[in-house]
Amino acid sequence: MTNLSKQLFVPLIFALLLTVVEKSNAQLDYLMSIKKIDIHTHINNDAPFLRKFLDDYNMKVNTLSTGGLDTARMNFRINGATEFTNEQPRYYSWVTTFELVNRDDPNWTKNVIKKLKNDFEHGAVGVKIWKDIGMDIKNSDGEFIQVNDPMFKPIFEFIEEQGKTLIAHIGEPIQAWMPTYPISKDKPGIYWAKHPQFSFWDKADRPSYSDIMAARDNLIAKHPNLRVVGAHLASLEFDVNEIAKRLESYPNFAVEIGGRMRYLMWQAHGKVREFFIKYQDRIMYGTDLSGGDIKWKNNLERKATNEEIEKMNERLHYRHDLFFRYLATDDDIPCGNYIIGDMPLPEPTYTVKGLALPKKVLDKIFYENAVKWFPGVEKGFK
Ligand SMILES: [Zn+2]
Repeated sequence: MTNLSKQLFVPLIFALLLTVVEKSNAQLDYLMSIKKIDIHTHINNDAPFLRKFLDDYNMKVNTLSTGGLDTARMNFRINGATEFTNEQPRYYSWVTTFELVNRDDPNWTKNVIKKLKNDFEHGAVGVKIWKDIGMDIKNSDGEFIQVNDPMFKPIFEFIEEQGKTLIAHIGEPIQAWMPTYPISKDKPGIYWAKHPQFSFWDKADRPSYSDIMAARDNLIAKHPNLRVVGAHLASLEFDVNEIAKRLESYPNFAVEIGGRMRYLMWQAHGKVREFFIKYQDRIMYGTDLSGGDIKWKNNLERKATNEEIEKMNERLHYRHDLFFRYLATDDDIPCGNYIIGDMPLPEPTYTVKGLALPKKVLDKIFYENAVKWFPGVEKGFK
């Protein structure tokens, strides 16, 4: 290369690189500037570190109640959410749930509906059901109760009548039916090692993955006027085409990402990008992050330690930063193998190309779809 061409070439390359960085930063700046809702969290209570984060990121979090078989935990969450979401509507909204312990009581349906009515009056924007339906509870004949069981019909009809949304975490990622992960206690980061009751690969008498998916699909089909949101990408996280099939079949159905972003990162870049663009009105941002400075463990609530708060804060920033970059930029993002709750942050072992979604799509996924699918979730978010 001659000196002259070097003089031209080097600054040109430098300018090009700058444009790329600027473009990707501009997308991130845009995403940071717009209002965002994380539709799937498990925030226990209002905490100053959370409010600071939500102000910095211009975000609001929706907290989902769980624990249909553990009423103490369920009541801790519901009672907490009733209070702190109404005190701080700028930062928090909530979704309720219902108990399954007394399901054989003849007054169960009536009592559940009464309780839901009260929760809606206290601002709950929806109702969550969990995988214990389908994978845990049984009827008097010893059969696993599926989500399309007639026992739930009046409850779902009531939710529809009230104009609220059902968010369904039904089933597990398909790996729960495979010996992909060793069920070993010395691998504490692996979910099914900690919760072997939801690992079905070696239990032949349990429902299959496709049985559970079919029951969920049947529920959506049977209630065409009920808004149903599939949590965790509807447990179909391994293939966007499988999600697309349901979105095509059921206009009353949408999905939220809820801690399954890595499965999207692992699929073909072009296919995933197309999925987001084609179904831009039906996908919501969600992380499944928990938090608050009160913790619930072994039926007791206790104050989180400073070290735990620091860890939560670090995780909060790490995950949102990673996910924002993946959705908004076309960066080559260094990624670790896994993002695991209690484990140290992973060392990067490969790169994932960001999707660089158009601004209009980011607006919908991060905010507009949450408002459309969970009316009232935006209340107080100025
Ligand atoms: Zn969750």
